Amino acid sequence: MKLFRWTIAIIVVLVNSVIAQEIKVGVYRAYNISKIDFSHHDGCYQIYGDSSLLGTITSNDYVSVHWNSDQKVEVYHGTIFKGEYNRVRLSPTQNGTHLRLHPKWPVLKERRYQGGFTVTAASKGITIVNILDLDQYLAGVVESEGGGGKHLEYYKAQAVLSRTYALKHQSRHRSEGFSLCDEVHCQAYHHGLRYTPLIRTAVEATHGVYLIHQDTEEMLSGFFHANCGGQTSSADYIWRENIPYLQPFKDTFCIYTKQATWEKEIPKKAWRDFLVNNYFFPIEDSVYRSNIYTFEQLDRKVFYLSPHLGIPLRDIRQHFKLKSTYFSCYPDGEMVVLKGRGFGHGVGMCQEGAMSMANKGFDYKMILSHYFEGVQFVNREQELFFNQKTTDIWDF
Ligand SMILES: [Zn+2]
Ligand SMILES: [Zn+2]
Repeated sequence: MKLFRWTIAIIVVLVNSVIAQEIKVGVYRAYNISKIDFSHHDGCYQIYGDSSLLGTITSNDYVSVHWNSDQKVEVYHGTIFKGEYNRVRLSPTQNGTHLRLHPKWPVLKERRYQGGFTVTAASKGITIVNILDLDQYLAGVVESEGGGGKHLEYYKAQAVLSRTYALKHQSRHRSEGFSLCDEVHCQAYHHGLRYTPLIRTAVEATHGVYLIHQDTEEMLSGFFHANCGGQTSSADYIWRENIPYLQPFKDTFCIYTKQATWEKEIPKKAWRDFLVNNYFFPIEDSVYRSNIYTFEQLDRKVFYLSPHLGIPLRDIRQHFKLKSTYFSCYPDGEMVVLKGRGFGHGVGMCQEGAMSMANKGFDYKMILSHYFEGVQFVNREQELFFNQKTTDIWDF
């Protein structure tokens, strides 16, 4: 009986350690913020300056945190100055509550996040870190990345992919004091889940599930993009190396969707100057000169015109702010006309293709297996339990 009780106690500890898994996300990373207000939304938050308890945020209450040039943070509870500290912590007294964040310098749109926060001073502004349950974070990511009104199976596919990405890249911003940033550099996370209860269902239904490759057993690099334009890109678009499960293939699920095609006109002079000045395009050669504006891309290519010219399409995309590298072009008067397909880098899961697969009745496992060859689904909770790994990978 005693042994039975101990077994139950160990199971409870192990399961709790998995369920309570937290992630640290740097928020408002696109800005240098020097003043921000944290206002009550629901629940109750304790305010700590270093290790001292300074007060509590309850209804109609707020805390203002200001950066100063001594690289400290000054804390005001409402209008009352509470002191300057190395670190401010806003700790929820119960799970699932929210604060509203409103940057005052610069003035930015208010966002609402679930979980707790730390604020520290960096050289040019404050670092705001949101600390919350991994699944709560994923719900915010799926809504920021996929929007509302989509099919449950698409949301599940996005949740599994975003979980895999978060687990794989958890040390990306370690030196800055958090795991992931809130920009597309990691995954867009511009607020907690607000509008779509179906997303919560999708995250909970796939709780703990992530992707590995069946041969290498390595966690997948779960890349995704808005629309591949009918053909995905190989992994070397991002890493300059070949990855077996990210081979380019034809994707017919996205070709009738809203971001399947695009068009743009660019002055010939700007096009020519970019190629000549940056890549020594042989403009003096009459054959090259006559073909400088004419390029056809039936299958995805890596270089403009010919590989030996060494002009990566990726550079052209970046310079002219194109939706994708998957375009053909021709001259028309003083302009170059670009006819393009898709939106994004094209590596991994095509979101509009995945949405259309879900609408056609495919489940999330079939969707992810379509975009990642040889993929295997692993349940992290079961894996941790059976392997008896009790260390918390987020703890740093
Ligand atoms: Zn990042
Ligand atoms: Zn596609």
